[in-house]
Parts: sequence; structure tokens; C-alpha cells
Amino acid sequence: MSRTRTAILGALALVASAAGTATAVVPADVGAAAAPCTVDYTVQNQWDTGFTAAVTVTNNSAAKSSWSAKWSYAGNQKVTSGWNAKITQSGADVTAANETYNAALATGGSVSFGFQGSYSGTNAIPAVFTLDGVTCNVDSGDPTDPTDPTGPGAKVDNPYTGAQVYVNPEWSAKAAAEPGGTRVSNQPTGVWLDRIAAIGGVGGGMGLRDHLDAALAQKGSGEEVVQLVVYDLPGRDCAALASNGELGPTEIDKYKTQFIDPIAAILADGKYSSLRIVTTIEIDSLPNLVTNTGSRATATPQCDTMLANGNYVKGVGYALAKLGAIPNVYNYIDAGHHGWLGWDDNFGPSATLFKQAATSEGATVDDVHGFITNTANYSALKENNFTINDAVNGTSVRQSKWVDWNRYVDELSYAQALRSQLVSTGFNSTIGMLIDTSRNGWGGAARPTGPGATTSVDTYVDGGRYDRRIHVGNWCNQSGAGLGERPQAGPATGIDAYVWMKPPGESDGSSSAIPNDEGKGFDRMCDPTYTGNARNGNNMSGALANAPLSGHWFSAQFQQLMANAYPPL
Ligand code: BGC
Repeated sequence: MSRTRTAILGALALVASAAGTATAVVPADVGAAAAPCTVDYTVQNQWDTGFTAAVTVTNNSAAKSSWSAKWSYAGNQKVTSGWNAKITQSGADVTAANETYNAALATGGSVSFGFQGSYSGTNAIPAVFTLDGVTCNVDSGDPTDPTDPTGPGAKVDNPYTGAQVYVNPEWSAKAAAEPGGTRVSNQPTGVWLDRIAAIGGVGGGMGLRDHLDAALAQKGSGEEVVQLVVYDLPGRDCAALASNGELGPTEIDKYKTQFIDPIAAILADGKYSSLRIVTTIEIDSLPNLVTNTGSRATATPQCDTMLANGNYVKGVGYALAKLGAIPNVYNYIDAGHHGWLGWDDNFGPSATLFKQAATSEGATVDDVHGFITNTANYSALKENNFTINDAVNGTSVRQSKWVDWNRYVDELSYAQALRSQLVSTGFNSTIGMLIDTSRNGWGGAARPTGPGATTSVDTYVDGGRYDRRIHVGNWCNQSGAGLGERPQAGPATGIDAYVWMKPPGESDGSSSAIPNDEGKGFDRMCDPTYTGNARNGNNMSGALANAPLSGHWFSAQFQQLMANAYPPL
């Protein structure tokens, strides 16, 4: 499944023609033995007639006392002024030579310079760079090529910018069949690859190729994002039962060869190279290893097993490496939600574990485009009636029963802070966050219209909070929830998009035991009569009654989600 350089160059041209930030790394990874030099050429800004670019050259050969980098443009680009290098142009050929102050370039050292240019038509990123006459290696896009650094290839900074997002016709039809459902049935939702059979299509339904073909049809001449959820790890859902999967805890090889490899083969098909494919990687898995293992009261034997055998970390690493090597695939790792990882004990360790997974099984941080929070959860996007810094009569809201010493009160503040933490842990500073707003609207008549009474921190927080769950650890078919913000690109600093990754109307789990052949168990957190466990502070589950198996259509829930939508429909 080796991709040719021509295919890569085609993708580069596509990237550079999009407005905004574009990056081509030709190639990355200084660890690759064969590369004498690497060049990272980033179009930072682009407008109708001009652009700015930043170039970083890394020297992997003998130390130099002077240097010159060269490239040629395929189009009519003209460098008009540069900085930190003497840049000259003759026809299509550009030479960037050192200034006196940055002439020395050590082995493994980098130098950066930039320039402004003009262009018309297409501003394609150059295909080949040389350093002192030696060609810097080129990303072949082949993850099995040992000399290929599997760098980020030609990906745009935010795949959602300027793009439509794929509307899954199967979900759309179910939504439209509900009374009032056509108000939202045109919204994009995630396509869940939740078992091996989903690749080909379950029960005569659409398989992965069917979805990608439909996405090409929806795409027209514009840009199109397709959102996939990759969800079939061995020993899946170790802290709950409702989404246990088909693979046993040790079936990592089956996961690789029968699940990830076939998905990668389809996504790498050149037919789909014009799509921007967003993957949500294995929800809940790594967060479970942080909070539900070891000596914690919340630990489960199943999560201890997955921590000990390493198969969550290996599976995530393998998926990131395989899928991240495909130039038009954008990996986002699941990062729980604020009511899970927002405590100090969990926050930093989660970032560290994400880094470990992202650097295992051949993956590098360049295979990670960002992270997603609140997938299939209910945490409010923004609590406007109180902040983490408020106090009542000298007592911090962190001491309220609801907040319970968490550092965050909502998803937006959590996602933005986690982004910074991840960058300081070693992820690229270009990562972006997604927030699943499918079911965190909490509107309707019960939505508070102002802050709670300042009698105590508890009256203040409980009277003002939008999130009306009994406990922030409740996760199954929450009573009173509503559809949240409609999917949108670049809604806030550091956030690539609000998305509906969990298709609203699909159950989180059955409220009583239902025999099935999907590996799904019965989790009492989905039973409205359940009085809870350590993971929800031994509270009532808050789940709706009469729910079907996870992933199955739950009409009553969909009706409530529409009724309680915020913003309202
Ligand atoms: C289920 C999956 C389903 C997904 C989306 C999960 O809870 O386990 O089978 O595809 O929800 O609804």
C-alpha cells in the first residue's frame, strides 16, 4: 500500500490552495537515518494575491559554517521580501542563503527564516528542497518504509476551516423520521467504526467505502470533512459494561490486522485523497487507564488488566501510526471530559499517558492532529453563572459538592487548558481541540437564568449550573439533557470545531439486560433505579428508562434532546 510521491505532491498542491495556514513537511522526524536534511515549509497566511511563509531547515549531516537552501515553484510565486536569510529568486528558482549571524549550522541543528511573496492562481508548496545541493528527503507516505519518517505530510492546520462536514445518511434518515426531526437531520454526525463488521457494513447497512463514496458525492467542488470514530480496542470499555466490545483483552493482533489495517487500506485509497478524514481515536480507553486502575477506589479489574497488558496503549499507538501516515487523515485522541480528568491527580498524568501512547508502536506526536473532549458525554460547554474562581462567603466553589475540588467547571475551559498542558508535554503547538456538543445543551424550562443564591457554595453552584446531572460522573442516557451547540468550525481559541461525534438519539446503553451478539453488557449506570458506585460518588444514575442497547436508536431520548436543545431549535 505504498503511496507514490506523485500522490503526495498532489495533496501538497491541494493544501496550499486552501486559504489560511498550510504546512508541508518534507519530511519530518530527525530520527530517520537516511535524511541528510529536512525542510518544514509552512504557508502561515494567505490572501488573494500574497502569502507569508516560514521555513525551518534541519541539518542532519556534518556541521556547516555557511549554507544555502533552494527550491523551485511550480506556479508564479515571487518572493518579495525575506528575513533571517538572504533570499534571491531567478525565474522559478529560489535560493535562501545564510546571514552572517546564522551561518553556523550544527549537526542536528535547525535554522528558521521567513518571507512574504506574491502569487496568483494556486500557491502550491514546493515539492523538493535542497540544502547545499543535497536533496532533503521526501515523505513517501508509506508507514512501512523504514526511511520514511511518517511525518504529518500535507495537512491543513484546521481541517474544519472552509469545509462542509459529512452528513451520515443513515443517521439523518432516523432523525428525519422523528416528529420535528428535520430541524436537525441535516447536521453532520460521527460515523462509528465500532466493530470489524462495520468496515463492510452491519446488517446490509453502509460500510466505510459507502460512507466515503457518499462523502465524495456531498463534497462537490468544495472541501469535505468526514468524521470517523475508531472504537474497537481489545477489552473495550473496561470501567463499564454497556459498550464492551467484540475483542477480548489479549486480542491486540486481531485489532491491528483485522480492524486498523483494513481501515487504513481504505482510507489510503487515492479515490478518497480529496476528503479531509477526521478520526476520533478510541474513546474512554486511555482516560480509563488513568482513573480506574491501581489503588483508586474507582479501579476495576478489567482496567487493571488493560493497564498491565499494555494493549490500550499499543492499540492507540498503532492506530495513530497507521492512520496518521495517510496524508489526508487527521487523528484526534479522545481526552475524556472535565468531569473526568479535570482534577489535578488526573490532568497531568493523562497528558503524559497520551504522549506515551502517541510515541508507541511507531507513532510520533506528528501523527496527532489534536484531541477531542466530551465524546458521547454531557458536560456543559460553558457555565455562565459561575466560574472556578468564584467564592461564596469566603468559600471557593471548588469546595461545593458539585465541583468537588475539580479545576474546571465546563468543557471549553477544560479543553483549552488541556491543550496547553499537552503542548508542554511534547505535542505539537499546532494541535487543535474538538468538543462533542451533541448532547450538552441543557436547555428547556429547567435551565437556570442566573446565578444561584449566595447562601452557600452549594446553593450558588446548584442554582446556577446548566448541567443538571445528579453527579458529573453520570454518563448514560442522561435525563433532562438537550442538543448542544450546532457543529461549527473554529468557534473559540484553540478549538478546531464543535462536533456531534455521538449521533444524538443513539443510546448509551440498555436500562435492563438485553441479549445481543455485539459483546455489549448491561451496565447498571443505565438503569434509572441504580444507586451508583465509586465512579459517580454513589449517586442515582440519572438515566432515562426503557433504553435500548448502546448505539441503537432511542426515540424518546431523541425527542427529549430536541425539546431541551440549547441553543433552542
Ligand atoms: C456504542 C457503539 C455505538 C456508539 C454510537 C456506543 O456507546 O457502544 O456501538 O456505535 O455508541 O452511538
